Amino acid sequence: MSLTNAYGFMSSTSPCRPLSIERREPGPTDVFFDIAHAGICHSDIHTARGEWGPVTYPIVVGHEIAGVVREVGSQVTKFKPGDRVGVGCMVDSCGECGYCFDGREQFCEKTIWTYDSIDKFGNPTHGGYSQAITVDERFVFHIPDAIALDEAAPLLCAGITTYSPLKRWVAPGMKVAVVGLGGLGHVGVQIAAAMGADVSVISQTMSKSADGLAFGAQNYYAASEPGTFARLRSTFDMILCTVSTTEHFTGYIGALTPTGALINVGMPGDPVMIQVRSLLPQRTMQGSQIGGCAETQEMLNFCAEHGVRPRIEKIGADQIDEAWQNVINSKVRYRYVIDADTFGTRG
Ligand code: NAP
Ligand code: ZN
Repeated sequence: MSLTNAYGFMSSTSPCRPLSIERREPGPTDVFFDIAHAGICHSDIHTARGEWGPVTYPIVVGHEIAGVVREVGSQVTKFKPGDRVGVGCMVDSCGECGYCFDGREQFCEKTIWTYDSIDKFGNPTHGGYSQAITVDERFVFHIPDAIALDEAAPLLCAGITTYSPLKRWVAPGMKVAVVGLGGLGHVGVQIAAAMGADVSVISQTMSKSADGLAFGAQNYYAASEPGTFARLRSTFDMILCTVSTTEHFTGYIGALTPTGALINVGMPGDPVMIQVRSLLPQRTMQGSQIGGCAETQEMLNFCAEHGVRPRIEKIGADQIDEAWQNVINSKVRYRYVIDADTFGTRG
C-alpha cells in the first residue's frame, strides 16, 4: 500500500477537505499512475450528497481521470511507464459474463465502480480527486497524443456517455437534439456534429446559444420560452437528454418524429412524470449508461481525429466547493477540471 493525497467528503453536507488515502501496490495486471487532472461530473455531486441513496464516508469522488503511468505489473502488456492514460467510471468487472465478453462491462453484475464501491480485495474504491491510482489494465485507456491531459479527463465520462448512444442511433443527416448544454451536453453536441447529424440544442434559456452554435449545433431552442414545444412537435429523429432535472419530458417526447427515440442519460434523484400516450405513435424512450472499455478507447480515438474537445476551466483544490455550486446552478462553462498538483507534495 502507498499513501496518496486526495480531497474528499466526510458527510453529505460537509465541504471538501484534504485526506490521505491508500492505494494498493500494483499487482501483475495493474497499472499505477500519477493523476494529473480529474474532471468534475455532476454524478460526483449526486453521489457525495447522497441524492441517489446512502454512501460510505469518507468518499473521494472523480471518474474522469487522466495521468501518466509510473509503474506496471509483470503481466501488463498494453502500458509502460511514461504512457499517457485515462480511467473512467469503472475499475474492474468479472471478466467472464456475457456482458464482459461483448464489451459492455458496465452491465456486469460485478462491475467495480471507480468510487463508492468495494474492490476485489475488500477495500473501498476512491476516485480521481487524488494524486495516484492503481487500476487493472483492462480499465485503463491510452490518451491519444493529439489530446492534452486536462482536456482528455472529461472525455472519460462525459465523452463516453454521449458517444455510446449517439453511435448506436445517429446516421449522417439525422436531426438530433441535445437537451442541456452542460458537461455532457457540450461534448454530445460536438460528437453528434462530427457524426454528420443536423444538431439542435434545447437549453433552459437562450443564454448559451452562441456557444452551442460554436460547438456545432445548427439550431438552439429555449425550453422556458412559451411555444417552444409546440413549434418543435415531431421534429427530431433522436433526442439525447443530459439534464438532471425532471421537467418537460412530455415536451421532449412530443418533439420526436413518429418513430424517433429519446435517449436519457441524465440521472435526477426525483422521479419524472410523463404522459405515456406521448410515446405514441411508435416512439422509443431508452436509457444509456456510460459505455464499455473497447468503446471508450474508440471514443478517445474518434475525439482525437475529429477535433472534439471539452471546453474546460482548470481549478485547484481550494476551488472544488465553489465549482460544485456552479455546476448545481448551471453556471459551469463547460467542465471543471481539477489540477492534482494542487493537492500537495506528491509522495
Ligand atoms: P451538468 O454539467 O450540470 O449539465 C447539466 C445541464 O442540465 C445543465 O448545464 C443545464 O443545461 C441543464 N439543466 C436543465 N435544467 C436545469 C436546472 N433546473 N438546474 C440546473 N441545470 C439544468 O451535468 P453533467 O455532468 O453534464 O451531467 C448531467 C446528468 O447526467 C447528471 O444527472 C449526471 O449524473 C448524469 N450522468 C449520467 C451518466 C450515464 O452514464 N447515464 C454519466 C454521467 C453523468 P442548460 O442550462 O443548457 O439547460
Ligand atoms: Zn460522470
